[in-house]
Amino acid sequence: MSQSETLKIVIVGHVDHGKSTLIGRLFYDTGSIPEARRQEIAATCKAQGRPFEFAYLMDALEEERVQNITIDTASSFFSTSRRRYVIIDAPGHKQFLKNMITGAASADAAILLVDGTEGVREQTKRHAHVLSLLGIRQVVVAVNKLDMIDYDRQRFQEVENDIRAFLHSLHIVPAHVIPISAREGENMAGRQGHTPWYAGPTILEALDAFGDVRGDATLPLRLPVQDVYTWDGRRIYAGRVETGEIRQGDEVIFQPSGKVTRVKSVEKWREPGLERAGAGECVGITTEDELFVERGEIIARLQQAPIRTREFRASIFWLADTPFRAGATYTIKLATAEVQAVAVDIEERLDSSTLEVIGRHEPELQPTEVGTVLFSLKTPLAVDRYGENVRTGRFVIQDSLQIGGGGTIQTVEGDADRAV
Ligand code: GDP
Repeated sequence: MSQSETLKIVIVGHVDHGKSTLIGRLFYDTGSIPEARRQEIAATCKAQGRPFEFAYLMDALEEERVQNITIDTASSFFSTSRRRYVIIDAPGHKQFLKNMITGAASADAAILLVDGTEGVREQTKRHAHVLSLLGIRQVVVAVNKLDMIDYDRQRFQEVENDIRAFLHSLHIVPAHVIPISAREGENMAGRQGHTPWYAGPTILEALDAFGDVRGDATLPLRLPVQDVYTWDGRRIYAGRVETGEIRQGDEVIFQPSGKVTRVKSVEKWREPGLERAGAGECVGITTEDELFVERGEIIARLQQAPIRTREFRASIFWLADTPFRAGATYTIKLATAEVQAVAVDIEERLDSSTLEVIGRHEPELQPTEVGTVLFSLKTPLAVDRYGENVRTGRFVIQDSLQIGGGGTIQTVEGDADRAV
């Protein structure tokens, strides 16, 4: 990976477990904080008779960003010799969850923080659950504040066992569980020597060991149609290649309409006549046959088409202020498609922190609850199972005009077929 590439990371954990401190420390240790700013904070802390407060660094950066003074968003980057990192959002609120679920923000990797003195708490579990719903598989766990318990190895191992067991129930295998003190800088960018019993990587080493930004290039082609233009007497289907690649001459299928044709040209703004385009690129394509399809169709290779369905079972995470109701109709947005769907059955209602099933065939899900729901769609939709493709296996649920929650497709039922 070249240094110009950026890995987007999200830092989650229970309130007060040390997220801001950890972020401040990472910026500080990587030399990403202007010296004048550091001195100002040191002076403020000294005047208040407290130790240097790394959490203030983030407040200070945020304040400048809001006021739009010297610091632009680029300053929320920090770099190592391997690559650049950006911390993508202030964690912990509903807005954050919404941004993540709707895809307005996306993360390549996560640090899950647990206060070693308090251990795994409800929010820790809820956030871990969100990571699993969003398909963030590159996770490192940091057990923080070990300076407060004299870097006690046994206590660290207890917390490590607890968090590993919970993550296991979510099918998340953390890359590492790292004993740290964000405040003292132990196992952050370097080792201070307080944890001689720990042989694993520091936080920065663990981040640097993460793989490239998404594995989207290697998945089957998924090009959701954003717009259809007629220009110069030709029809152009425009959109972003979410996964895989598209090539001139490919035999492709548009789903859910099931129309099959060949790619005549792949074009980009100012770059007509490309041979191919890959994941992440916005392109327009023309086809050998003029097809009358609309926004929302997914273009795929004929042999690797998404599933065309009118019914699926999904895990959903509900965020709206009003309950999610069985029997109600919601708008589901998946990639560029939008369909009406009836929540036929809330098959399971889960406690989002323990993941225990707390009810079956329930009438409602309350805000922040998780459920397994069977949806019946009024018109067919092209989907993938979430385990196969995160981009086209995840959707947003709209309730009236607001985003009510998000979901991931687990199984596809009914008249599902690959229409090939
Ligand atoms: P957040 O709510 O998760 O962002 O937590 P903060 O970063 O604001 O930290 C909450 C409190 O814990 C603050 O008073 C920090 O100074 C303190 N804190 C954070 N990390 C450490 C640590 O490694 N050691 C100690 N002793 N205190 C810490």
